[in-house]
Amino acid sequence: MALQPNVDLDAALKEARDKYGAANPNSREYYESARNSLTGGLGRSSLYFQPFPLAFSHGEGAYIWDVDDHRYADFMGDYTAGIYGHNHPITRRVILETFDNGIALNGPHKHEAPFAEALCKRFPAFEQIRFANSGTEANIWALSLARAVSGKSHVMAFEGCYHGGVFNFEHGPAPVNYPIPWVMAPYNDLDGTSALIDAHEHELAAVIIEPMVGAQGCIPAETDFLKGLREITEEKGIILIFDEVMTSRLGPNGYQGEVGITPDLTSVSKYLGGGLTFGAFGGRADLMTRYDQTGEDPLPQAGTFNNNVLTMTAGLAALEEIYTESAARDLNDRGDDFRHRLNELAKTHGVPVQFTGYGSMLNIHFTADPILSPQDMHKTDLRKRDLFHFDMMDQAQYLARSGMIVLSLPMTDSEIDSFVAAVDEFFASRKSLLAD
Ligand code: PMP
Repeated sequence: MALQPNVDLDAALKEARDKYGAANPNSREYYESARNSLTGGLGRSSLYFQPFPLAFSHGEGAYIWDVDDHRYADFMGDYTAGIYGHNHPITRRVILETFDNGIALNGPHKHEAPFAEALCKRFPAFEQIRFANSGTEANIWALSLARAVSGKSHVMAFEGCYHGGVFNFEHGPAPVNYPIPWVMAPYNDLDGTSALIDAHEHELAAVIIEPMVGAQGCIPAETDFLKGLREITEEKGIILIFDEVMTSRLGPNGYQGEVGITPDLTSVSKYLGGGLTFGAFGGRADLMTRYDQTGEDPLPQAGTFNNNVLTMTAGLAALEEIYTESAARDLNDRGDDFRHRLNELAKTHGVPVQFTGYGSMLNIHFTADPILSPQDMHKTDLRKRDLFHFDMMDQAQYLARSGMIVLSLPMTDSEIDSFVAAVDEFFASRKSLLAD
């Protein structure tokens, strides 16, 4: 179906939003009644958009269905956690088998250490790890460890980045953030960052960074920036933490493997739980050993579900049988090709639009100016981004409202071609609205 060309961005957006509202009565009803007991009608603030978000009923392979029975190609991929698609036969089998053998086994169990070992083999920084239940928790633990072992209080994070619900720096440190004295630094600016490290070196326990900014625009760090950060932190004895909650999928050995830089600690989450709730953090054995209960003055690291059996078995099977090192290479090669095609399309249409990212994660930006830090996201007119979101949904393509686009393993050339065709249609219909 051809999209309607429009003369005015506000009018076009209103028309697209009204059309969306009319097409999704069951999602609207669900949202309105959910608001009674579930604050704001949903459990993850990042999923909200006006007039109401879609509510989903089920998924299969690369597709999801909403409660109005529309089918969408799933290019949101649950913000990178959904790499296996829906109802993957291997994780399904393993979860059911595990369930049949009991799921709350009280003690250490036979599935825990093998999963830890597989993760240590996979990611260079992991000499030893511990489990948690989410990316936020993994970062809480990594930062607590850094502060406990260093005896220092402050942590450097980067402006505009996100490390979890209580580590949100999208607009500076959020009021709900974990109360750590933060030093905010500019992403991809080595001089600015190193001056701040010099100024705070005696109080800085750690520097935490996403080696590619994920949900805030899929913006890779320049390798020299990461190298510089590694050198400075090493020289000054400050713990460097890579938050690879999203980026660990971007290569056979994570993004750290792609750039050949080994941080002191790393946090992971998302897809590595095989689709179930999961988090882990780890790194240098001399740091992690502080959790060893046989050591002198050990630190506690507890959590009822840290070693939950379903995640341990599903995660291990997914890592060893599905997202193998070669599968990671292949998916990310396809992602690079996909991003290249989309950027070529923007050039062909002559629209000031670009797709940034790396491998299987990318983000649309409505500007031709360089995108080097999360601050550059402000160069995008949010009305264009929202229009894209509605127009893509109208063409049965589901992606994050922020413009993040994520590939999953069950996607074939057919899904990728359909997405490219939908973007082509969007550029053709909306060209006059996209000019700077
Ligand atoms: N770090 C990064 C880089 C993330 O993108 C996220 C989640 N999007 C988190 C941490 C938090 O993970 P979780 O939602 O599992 O708590």
